[in-house]
Amino acid sequence: MKLTVQYAGLTDLGRVRRTNEDNWTADPEQGLFIVADGMGGEFAGALASKAVVATLPELVRKCFVTKECLANGRARRRMTNVIGTLSTQLRRQTQNEPGLAGMGSTVVCALVRGSKALVAHMGDSRAYRLRAGQLKQLTKDHTLIQVLLHSGEITREEAATHPALGRLTRSVGMAGEPLPQTRLLELSPGDLLMLCTDGLTGMLSDDQILSILKEPAPLAKQCRRLVDAANGAGGKDNITVLLLSSCRRKTKTRR
Ligand code: CA
Repeated sequence: MKLTVQYAGLTDLGRVRRTNEDNWTADPEQGLFIVADGMGGEFAGALASKAVVATLPELVRKCFVTKECLANGRARRRMTNVIGTLSTQLRRQTQNEPGLAGMGSTVVCALVRGSKALVAHMGDSRAYRLRAGQLKQLTKDHTLIQVLLHSGEITREEAATHPALGRLTRSVGMAGEPLPQTRLLELSPGDLLMLCTDGLTGMLSDDQILSILKEPAPLAKQCRRLVDAANGAGGKDNITVLLLSSCRRKTKTRR
């Protein structure tokens, strides 16, 4: 089935931070959509997320032929290698500049080709899918909190105020072997994919996000509503959201 993708994205400072360390980009020509959340101090954080959105499209272009079908198993391995290269490049950059120690970034991206979407991430920026009124989180946060929750050491209530909040177990630029997670999805017409930073999900519950996304509106307006709601809930962090919607491509009819 031929699907075409529409998208809109928005990033916002939030209500507390002085600089925006988030970045997003779309490369519709190769069907690539990226959100990144930098860390390592205001200057270094913004630099790291900017490097991610600037470098990743080129790395993907080198490894994925335009229009290449994502159905084969090699696509996920290839994306793992691409994000690994991205991480190693950023790490080398920080090693050569003492002022950039600790610089890193999350990444969540979707490569959309035909009816397939290849989602990859490192860190706590997330991908969600809205289908038939149900919102599903597609990514698992690479955070210490997630590890503690999974092992049963802490409850969801304890997680909200735990001192390890915000500590990532994986990120772009991390020491050791970078381990991105990937998943390949089959898209249906009407599916909505959302890529976002924790400035959105830290302020709004999945139910709150769902109630906004269920209200019909152009994608740009939905991005605005999500950002406004996160700011309304405190806006404690930078907020970034990127929405993609898939619909059937109109085919030309012969007369
Ligand atoms: Ca953040």
